Amino acid sequence: MDRTFKFIVNPVAGPKDNLKYWRALNKKLLEEKLEFKAKITKRQGHATTWASKRVDKGNDSVIVSVGGDGTFNEVASALVNSPLQMAHIPRGSGNGLARMLKIPSKISGLPAYLKEGVLHCIDTGKWNDKYFFCTAGFGFDALIAHHFSASKNRGLKSYVFYIVKAFFSYKGVEATVVLDGEKRNGRFFTVTFANANQYGNNAFIAPGAKLQDGLLDVTLIRPFPKILTPFVVVALFGKRIHKFSFVETLKVKNVEIQYVSVPYFHIDGDAIESELPVQVSVLPASLNLLIPKNRV
Ligand SMILES: [Mg+2]
Repeated sequence: MDRTFKFIVNPVAGPKDNLKYWRALNKKLLEEKLEFKAKITKRQGHATTWASKRVDKGNDSVIVSVGGDGTFNEVASALVNSPLQMAHIPRGSGNGLARMLKIPSKISGLPAYLKEGVLHCIDTGKWNDKYFFCTAGFGFDALIAHHFSASKNRGLKSYVFYIVKAFFSYKGVEATVVLDGEKRNGRFFTVTFANANQYGNNAFIAPGAKLQDGLLDVTLIRPFPKILTPFVVVALFGKRIHKFSFVETLKVKNVEIQYVSVPYFHIDGDAIESELPVQVSVLPASLNLLIPKNRV
């Protein structure tokens, strides 16, 4: 039997007009004779409510989120540990998971992904009672997420603007974390818990991370001399961040964040607030996700 699809489209994802994109994609899907229905989200959280209803009804269509990492998170959070299948069309500013899995956003590449993609059961990260699929953490990246969520301008240019603006005055945060029973404390530039290997935009914060190993990759970056910044940036994009002496990487199952002096956190790039201590863990093989055939 051919797959059928239920699309959930975030009209305001990312820097561009996503409704215009959706209209073009809709036309393409009709031409390709795919069987589908679609829903446009009306507000934040709508995708989760909608997807939870599909879970309750025991839907057998593939649920397809069209939006950024935030939209993916909303839909996937409802589907974790359910038998439902999910696909994702990346339209955000970072697209970490989609980039890692080489999921296309160009309309011409999408019919093949949807028709021939292979289902894999990937891991999910858990942050107290919330889920993350890409990365979560605290420190400089979380500070940027908080600046970014307060700004009206989305997209890579405004990310870069906030990063440069905040970077030169940033001194790191004091923190205590326990990683599978091993304590780390002191001052950190940033601490990231990674399910996927990148933040998005091919910034590889955890080059060794795998989505199906039942482990989270932790990257702890201690404060470093600012003169080294160009080398750190090059290493981040070149999958070599773990090579520096001020960077430690570990693979773990359970984390407790006991203390952070500046309690800014992010999950999947979105700023969140959390009471301490925070429990971070991994739910192995908990989300059925369609992955392009040529990636397997
Ligand atoms: Mg992993």
